[in-house]
Amino acid sequence: MAVQNTQKPSRFIGALGHDRIRVSFEFFPPKTAEMENALWEAIARLEPLEPAFVSVTYGAGGSTRERTHATVKRILTETKLVPAAHLTCIGATRAEVDAVARAYWEVGVRHIVALRGDPPEGVGSRYQPHPGGYAYACDLVAALKRIGDFELSVAAFPEKHPASASFEQDLDVLAKKVDAGASRAITQFFFENDAYFRFLDRVRARGIGIPIVPGILPVQNFKQTRKFAEQAGATVPAWLADRFAGLDDDAVTRKLIAAAVAAEQVFDLVDRGVTDFHFYTMNRADLVYAICHLLGLRPAKDAAAGKIPSTRGAA
Ligand SMILES: Cc1cc2nc3c(=O)[nH]c(=O)nc-3n(C[C@H](O)[C@H](O)[C@H](O)COP(=O)(O)OP(=O)(O)OC[C@H]3O[C@@H](n4cnc5c(N)ncnc54)[C@H](O)[C@@H]3O)c2cc1C
Repeated sequence: MAVQNTQKPSRFIGALGHDRIRVSFEFFPPKTAEMENALWEAIARLEPLEPAFVSVTYGAGGSTRERTHATVKRILTETKLVPAAHLTCIGATRAEVDAVARAYWEVGVRHIVALRGDPPEGVGSRYQPHPGGYAYACDLVAALKRIGDFELSVAAFPEKHPASASFEQDLDVLAKKVDAGASRAITQFFFENDAYFRFLDRVRARGIGIPIVPGILPVQNFKQTRKFAEQAGATVPAWLADRFAGLDDDAVTRKLIAAAVAAEQVFDLVDRGVTDFHFYTMNRADLVYAICHLLGLRPAKDAAAGKIPSTRGAA
C-alpha cells in the first residue's frame, strides 16, 4: 500500500490558507487604454483574495512617474487594496524624488518599494548616479524615512545582484537598507528554491532579521521569462526550459505547464516554512489566481459568508 506523506504543510493548505499564507501582487502601470482595461480586470479578479498589499512598478528612469502615481491613486480610491508605490533613484534629483514621495504621502500612500533602478542605457550598462540624485537604494530609504513614516520594502537577490562583486557585498548593501529603515525585502524571481534558502541562510547569518519575501514569477511566456532572467541575473534551469520545450505554438498547454511549475515551486516553499509570497502578475490574473487558490486563498465573499476566516486585519 502506498504511504502518504501527511506531514507536509502543503497537504493542509486549506486549513493554513487565510490564517497563515499572505500574498502580495505586483502590477506595472499601463501604457494604453487596452492595457489599462487588462490591468483593471486583473485587479478586480485578484482583489477578493485580500492580498496584504499590491505594488505598482516605476518604469526605467522614472519614465512612468505619472502613470505609476495615477495607478496607485486609483487603487487607493477605487478599491479596498493597500497600494505600495515603487520608486527609484534613476534620472532625477533628490528634490524631484522627494516631491514624488511627498505627493504619495499626501494622497495617503504609506508603503513604498524603494529601489535604485537600472541605468537608462539598459541593464548591464555602467551605473552612474544622477548628479544631485540619490545614488543607491539605501540613500533613498533613508530619505523616505525623513519624509514620512513609510513602510519600506526593498529588493534582494537570491542569486546575487548582477553588478555586485560578491554575496558579501549584497549582504552589506541589504544591511544598510535595513539600518536605513527597510522592514521587508522582496526577492528577484528565481526557479531553484535552494538558491532562495541558501540566500536566506546567509542573510540570517549576517544578523538581518526582516522578512525576505520570495518573488514568484509564473511563466506566462517562456521566451520573455528567459530574457528577463538574463537581465536580472536569475538562472533558468535546464529542467524549466525542458518543460516548455516544443510548446511555442500551444498556448493552452503552456498555461497548464506554467500553473504546474509554479504550484510545485510554492508548495515546496510552503513545505520548507515560507508563508509570504509576492507574485509578479504581469498584469494578468489567471495563473496567479489559480496558484493562490492552491495556496488555500479564497475570495473574500466566501469569507463574508462565513465559509472561511477573513485575513482582513491580520498581521
Ligand atoms: C522586487 C523588485 C522590484 C523592482 N521594481 C523595480 C521598479 O519598479 N522599477 C525599476 O526600474 N526597477 C525595479 N527593480 C529592479 C531594480 O531596480 C534593479 O535590480 C537594480 O539594479 C537594483 O536595485 P536595488 O534597489 O537592489 O539597488 P541597490 O540596493 O542600490 O544595489 C544596486 C547595486 O549597487 C551596489 N551598491 C549598493 N549600495 C552601494 C554603495 N553604497 N556603494 C557601492 N555600491 C553599492 C549593490 O551591490 C548592487 O550591485 C525591482 C527589483 C526587484 C527585486
